[in-house]
Amino acid sequence: MHTFLSTFASTLIMLHVFSFAPFVKADDEQATTSNNIAIAIHGGAGTISKANLSPAQEAAYREILEKALKAGYEVLKSGEDGTVAVIKAIQLMEDSVLFNAGVGAVYTFDEEHELDASIMHGADRSAGAVAGVKTIRSPIAAANLVRTESVHVLLSGEGAESFAFAKGLEKVDNRYFNSSRRLDALKKAKKEILKDEQAFYSAPHNIDYKYGTVGVVVLDKNGNLVAGTSTGGMTAKRYGRVGDSPIIGAGTFADNNSCAVSSTGHGEFFIRYNVAADICARVEYQQLSIEDAASKVINGVLKDAGGTGGVIAIDAQGNIAMPFNTEGMYRASIDTKGDVYIGIYGND
Ligand code: ASP
Repeated sequence: MHTFLSTFASTLIMLHVFSFAPFVKADDEQATTSNNIAIAIHGGAGTISKANLSPAQEAAYREILEKALKAGYEVLKSGEDGTVAVIKAIQLMEDSVLFNAGVGAVYTFDEEHELDASIMHGADRSAGAVAGVKTIRSPIAAANLVRTESVHVLLSGEGAESFAFAKGLEKVDNRYFNSSRRLDALKKAKKEILKDEQAFYSAPHNIDYKYGTVGVVVLDKNGNLVAGTSTGGMTAKRYGRVGDSPIIGAGTFADNNSCAVSSTGHGEFFIRYNVAADICARVEYQQLSIEDAASKVINGVLKDAGGTGGVIAIDAQGNIAMPFNTEGMYRASIDTKGDVYIGIYGND
């Protein structure tokens, strides 16, 4: 009986896995040829290979990626501003234990969670970010409030929290973000830190310790480009370490004249190489395609420097690029033709 059930379950999972053809239409009614809206999302880059993911895990990731992608796309179809779509899709991933953002965020050295997020609007380059927040349920919502309701761009720690709660955001206990998988990763990390602290913190992107950041870029019906990113950062981070995700220009960037980008990877490199803004600068000043610009930075500049990770990027025409120099990157997109793509590994 048990064998029958497990065979039945794995058949269902396989059917589920295979039901995701790489390209399908977003709408049953077959989307019109040009909606002039498009969306791309990521759920982190790293050593993500078939060997590291069971079919059930793979199916679970594909399912939540599809859900977040389509939820964001529906908002875009309704004609709302791109920020609403970005926040909607990111919040679904913040609420999923599978990603290193919100619930399921990695642990700091002191066994807490410190969350970072940012959002940028390409129409006026308005931007908002929070860093090292511990009790805001949705860091991306807080980042957007910084953008719209404050004169600042980046708020950190307790100050950011007081601001967010004064604006009515939901407060949760830090333990709300707990998960056993990330706690196990912290325990493993601490053993490695005891052996060689410097080697641990400077190691390339590692499946156990820093992957699962989430991000969304969109082109909305008004022709606006918007980007947002949310993360728990890196496992065992100390001393208030802040990565690239809340840094405008590094982890997130949007300008209607060029492109919108959300990054994931070894944050210190993304900050030093100003990755998101560099891609958009190449689009604007060198007239490179989004594909070429993003690939030159991720597979050229960043890789040569020893930085690992990837980006999702979109230009003003809705062209999408999703390069990464790691084994895999959780990613999904719906282009201006309505074609849906969901990928995890190198090729699919
Ligand atoms: N970029 C994030 C950080 O360094 C981590 C990640 O994207 O996986 O905080």
